[in-house]
Amino acid sequence: MPHHNVKKAEAMSFSEEVTCRHGGETLTACYQCGTCASSCPVARLDSRFNPREVLKLALLGEKDELLSGDAIWLCTSCFNCQERCPQNVEIAELMFTLRNIAIEAGNSPNIYADFGGALLADGRIVAISKFVEKKREEFGLPPLKPVGVEDLNKILEATGFTKPEKKEASQ
Ligand code: SF4
Ligand code: SF4
Repeated sequence: MPHHNVKKAEAMSFSEEVTCRHGGETLTACYQCGTCASSCPVARLDSRFNPREVLKLALLGEKDELLSGDAIWLCTSCFNCQERCPQNVEIAELMFTLRNIAIEAGNSPNIYADFGGALLADGRIVAISKFVEKKREEFGLPPLKPVGVEDLNKILEATGFTKPEKKEASQ
């Protein structure tokens, strides 16, 4: 198969992979107008992020670039873009979908492994630190009690949630 046909087949399979998933269904409605990028507070502050670019890479099947890069993790889920997209593309939902694919491929920032581990162990995304305990005491707040995690873990298991793997340290 000529190279450009191979690329085309790969592109189709990745955008299909995204549109078959919950939250990814609207990807192919994007016609690259850029309204999302001009509505995005993160894009204004950080040149690594542009939602239109993220969707373009997904549409072109640039899976490796997308899943190994920082961009999909920078969206703050403010939904500004999604409110304004003329094509009703669910952009913020698409970011979640792409993150799920990245986690399954072992490509998530290490902080997510910490969040996942804390959720499974304590039912909280951020583990309670000595610092927080001390501050609560200083402010006259009662100590945080452990929350029951048995029921939560049953739900997480039923949804297929597993703790994301930590990446090998690169330095
Ligand atoms: S606003 Fe909607 S159609 Fe326009 S580039 Fe963004 S996602 Fe695509
Ligand atoms: S939801 Fe994400 S991509 Fe959309 S405007 Fe907010 S930060 Fe930007």
